[in-house]
Amino acid sequence: MGRFFVLLLLPILLFGGSVKPFKWKDGESFLSFLERKKLPLSVYYNLDKEDQKLTEDIPYSANCQMILDNKNFIRQILIPVNDELQLQIYLTPKKRYEMKVTPVVSEEYTETLYVPIQTLPYNDILKTTGSKNLASIFVKMFKGKVDFRRGLQPGAPIIIVYTQKYRLGKPFSMPEVHGAMVEVNGKKISVYRHSDGRFYDEKGGQYEKFLFKLPMKNPRITSRFTKSRYHPVLKRYRAHLGVDFGARPGTPILSTGEGKVSFVGYSSGYGKTIKIRHSNGLISLYAHQKSFKKGIRSGVRVKQGEIIGYVGSSGLSSGPHLHFGVYRGSNAIDPLGVMKKKTEGFSGKERKVFLAIRDKMDRRFKEALKNKPTRKPYFDFHETYYVDSETFKVKPF
Ligand SMILES: [Zn+2]
Repeated sequence: MGRFFVLLLLPILLFGGSVKPFKWKDGESFLSFLERKKLPLSVYYNLDKEDQKLTEDIPYSANCQMILDNKNFIRQILIPVNDELQLQIYLTPKKRYEMKVTPVVSEEYTETLYVPIQTLPYNDILKTTGSKNLASIFVKMFKGKVDFRRGLQPGAPIIIVYTQKYRLGKPFSMPEVHGAMVEVNGKKISVYRHSDGRFYDEKGGQYEKFLFKLPMKNPRITSRFTKSRYHPVLKRYRAHLGVDFGARPGTPILSTGEGKVSFVGYSSGYGKTIKIRHSNGLISLYAHQKSFKKGIRSGVRVKQGEIIGYVGSSGLSSGPHLHFGVYRGSNAIDPLGVMKKKTEGFSGKERKVFLAIRDKMDRRFKEALKNKPTRKPYFDFHETYYVDSETFKVKPF
């Protein structure tokens, strides 16, 4: 995989290429992006169905890169679909543009961050790291547990242990927080991420509440969520950013949770699609529908389990099924990871696993309280980089 990239990049580097980062425009379609960059639309039409669908899932403000030669000619464009897969537009030796789905090459670092409180946790974390994502994850972790408007003393510590991915020198994708601690009224309060990806207090009690239900009666899952999978027969990378439920045409589709309908309409990939925005900030998506339930339109409130439409195979679909997606912001997450789950404490083997995670985090917190590590930024945030073909390390101009 690494060699593949080096081979693609090498000819560019001999020309002294540079990397220009840019952000994906909110709501821009892939075809209008190609038009704006004066790239041939065949780049899109030569893709197969599955890859065409992926272009509809480019997250808003995705951190993209354009690799230019010294005459400012586009050699490559990298557009991440998630933190593992990207769309790679590249110039072939015959001077034609083509596109492939390829894995993202990234480095990741796990850091322990120590921040003494000055104003509010959100502001202080943002100021120290420049990461809105990290700041908002922290606030969400303690929501309902700690009221940050009272009891915070200046200088009281915040500690966060997290992993951040970097791609071509810039942080990208959501940081993964493993645990966090904050001192309120002289009392230390901690939250830990268990192996199921959810946050728990020191006793294993859950305080993230997910109340979603499956969008169909008697569901039959035919394809699961995957950020990146290598297809050994097709010899290519694939992503499936939702869960497929096989069902007869006309089978009712149910709202996964209470919320407000934010989209009812047609997209070339997903066909007849409904999106619902929920109070926990997540968005659910129901694609390839045959028809919508009467009265379901943008702005309407729906209850959990309410019929919103009917299974079909509109759009790029190989047969009748419901494609069900869940998004945090515009990033697809695993829908099955946010379905209703028992919230009692852990028992048996799972309890042992949780306690091991908790104790390891507690040791990290203790160390951080003693050493007060300040953040050492791995890269400076310059706009343009050279790419070293051997190591993929970046150097600012
Ligand atoms: Zn699907």
